[in-house]
Amino acid sequence: MRILVTNDDGIDSPGIYALAQALQGVGEVTVVAPNQQQSAVGHALTVAVPLRVHPYERNGKPFGHAVTGTPADCVKLALDAILPERPDIVVSGINHGRNTAVSLIYSGTVSAATEGTLLGIPSIAISLDNFSLDADFTHAAEVAAWLVPILHQHHLPRGVLLNVNVPAIPRDQIKGVRIAEQGSGFWNDRYEVRHDPMGRPYYWLTGSYIPDGHSGSDDQLLTEGYVTITPIHYRLTDHTMLEELRTWGIEGKGGA
Ligand code: MN
Repeated sequence: MRILVTNDDGIDSPGIYALAQALQGVGEVTVVAPNQQQSAVGHALTVAVPLRVHPYERNGKPFGHAVTGTPADCVKLALDAILPERPDIVVSGINHGRNTAVSLIYSGTVSAATEGTLLGIPSIAISLDNFSLDADFTHAAEVAAWLVPILHQHHLPRGVLLNVNVPAIPRDQIKGVRIAEQGSGFWNDRYEVRHDPMGRPYYWLTGSYIPDGHSGSDDQLLTEGYVTITPIHYRLTDHTMLEELRTWGIEGKGGA
């Protein structure tokens, strides 16, 4: 099995290293990842400047291909220009921090996996519920190594990917694996105003995450100590509103 590994935290992050190491035992791993931090870039593609690719080493050994682009760029470029053969699976992560609820639309980790499934390859995004610098990715990496062969056996429709979150608690405290819905938590964002040496204001996004408390949501189950797996897709039509909008009488009128 050929496995393409990518992420959004950058090719030098601890999460992608743990992931690539764990997947070595599962298949033939190729790492193609951003050369710098790309969290919260969503599904951005680089179109105004060229992409460069550089070989990247870790611990004195070849580790992968560092790309001067976004997570979605990495997957597209890997398939079109870097990999000699199509991968059987794309795994994105392990992200530093949970990817649940509204975070899925900002997440570069998830977008890399979305790009994989758009290109017809079964794909997983995996995140560890820990933002701290000393986070231990060992168990999350083992979860990925467990799940990849399972995904390889089953059919996922094109456009559907698996979003996985792993609690950052000792392994013997993890309660198990649960299939979960995307929650409705949100970020309580605000911009902190600071001043540069010239006295001009600048703004830095900060804030805190407000998870929902709904049983069955990714946020709630993750907080309770479960590994959560959520099937997601990128198709955005709201089918309930599709019908409601038809009752507004605006269809067929030719617009303004
Ligand atoms: Mn990230």
